[in-house]
Amino acid sequence: MHLFTDVITSVGVIIGLAFAVLTGWHILDPLIAAVVAVNILMMGYKIATDSMSRLMDQAASPEMEARIRGAIEANGIGALQAHDIRTRQAGRALFIEFHLVVPGAMSVDEAHAICDRLEDSIEKNIEGSEVVIHVEPEYKAKPEESGVVPL
Ligand SMILES: [Zn+2]
Repeated sequence: MHLFTDVITSVGVIIGLAFAVLTGWHILDPLIAAVVAVNILMMGYKIATDSMSRLMDQAASPEMEARIRGAIEANGIGALQAHDIRTRQAGRALFIEFHLVVPGAMSVDEAHAICDRLEDSIEKNIEGSEVVIHVEPEYKAKPEESGVVPL
């Protein structure tokens, strides 16, 4: 986008100059310059907000959230529920956190195996993702509503 803005700027300047020289209509030069300037400002704003949102820990897009939920559903066998899924984008990395409800009597070994499976599959599935899972016993389960992934 930055490069494209440079191209537009150069082409605009050349056209403006050519028309001003050819027609003797010198107002064209500053007019085209103003149009190019507005274009640069708009593109600059867009480029800046785009990269800022990634630097400012923006949450993942709804499509990405759906992919994450799908990956949890597909690999959460043995657990009861996932909830409080939180994501934040930092540069190219996507940090994913959620609570995983398992039967309270489940061994640490088993719960850990489920977490490993979930982390591996999500990180393979979603490029740049890093997953942290908080394990909870069943009384921490939340009523099924949006944001809760039943397993
Ligand atoms: Zn919880």
